[in-house]
Amino acid sequence: MIPFNRPPVADKGLEYIKTAVAMGKICGDGTFTKQCSAWIEQQTGTPKALLTTSCTHALEMAALLCDVKAGDEVIMPSYTFVSTADAFVQRGATIVFVDVRPDTMNMDERLVEAAISSKTRVIVPVHYAGVSCEMDTINAIAAAHGLYVVEDAAQGVMASYKGKALGTMGDFGCFSFHETKNYSMGEGGALLIGREAAIEKAEIIREKGTDRSRFFRGQVDKYTWVDYGSSYLPSDMNAAYLYAQLEIADEINNARLAVWELYNKGLAELAASGRIELPYIPEGCAHNAHMYYIKTKELSERGALIAHLKERGIASAFHYIPLHSAPAGKRFGRFSGEDRYTTKESERLLRLPMYYGITEDEAARVIDAVWEFYKTV
Ligand SMILES: *Cc1c(COP(=O)(O)O)cnc(C)c1O
Repeated sequence: MIPFNRPPVADKGLEYIKTAVAMGKICGDGTFTKQCSAWIEQQTGTPKALLTTSCTHALEMAALLCDVKAGDEVIMPSYTFVSTADAFVQRGATIVFVDVRPDTMNMDERLVEAAISSKTRVIVPVHYAGVSCEMDTINAIAAAHGLYVVEDAAQGVMASYKGKALGTMGDFGCFSFHETKNYSMGEGGALLIGREAAIEKAEIIREKGTDRSRFFRGQVDKYTWVDYGSSYLPSDMNAAYLYAQLEIADEINNARLAVWELYNKGLAELAASGRIELPYIPEGCAHNAHMYYIKTKELSERGALIAHLKERGIASAFHYIPLHSAPAGKRFGRFSGEDRYTTKESERLLRLPMYYGITEDEAARVIDAVWEFYKTV
């Protein structure tokens, strides 16, 4: 059986967990947490990275830092994970969904301006599959209207847009280290803070509303409750596990990209003959092979292909049911303009097995199985 995903494992992961335990400090912000944050800061160039318990929690922190309030509106694609919306709905915001571009499945930047009202506060681009949204356009619109930009870069670690790391182009960027992502600590994430002025407030929110971070730096002689907050720090044991992967991030990234290329070459002729569509990477975008997807003709063909692959021991997966069609999406959001592509394209999209450690033979088996399907239909 070829699974759809295997969580990434680095050889030193368990050893580093033991080291964290031996150091006698397994709560948040220990040695490995600091090393992970430093790695993110170096790798991306962000002024400040804070490790969090999830990307969902990084998004919640961003919503608090943008001071989103009841009645505010937040613009995002409907084709995304629930957490993108949840973080802002929790603050009482209304979600305004914008259609995706069929080529990248990212929010269509040309439709953002029309979705803005006097209540709009934040734009949330989601970099689907680690392929960047059109950030120059989105940032220009945000600047012209005085809006925050929060990048959902859950899938975007090690990917870039015109040389800039995903997660560093908005006011805040959010990474995920969930087991389904390219680098993982089981559950975890990071908040990248683009505006220096927000760093201290972010540290306070993450530390239960206390100035504990300042205390540890020796800037105050005891720590106290100074604002609202919550607990968004992961255990240093989890950070240790992640750090082992970050140390070999290039190797993991290159291995994933190699498999992505195998799929892309192996299926190119099928796409050329018009049977399927393959992912599109816009110029200036360096992606991270977070996923490999194809697009079938329509929903029923996708269902038949999933069954065909399953019979051959290959697990595949479709992705988001558009949020605006879900019960909570109807309650908390509305669609701006017409749903030309979100529903239609999401129903055609099928993700093939992709993980660190999948072999060339396994990828070849997947390619053969897809070809075999299209010989019979
Ligand atoms: C995985 C993911 C999230 C949530 O990440 P967690 O770390 O599981 O909270 C949010 N947004 C997108 C686009 C994701 O892919």
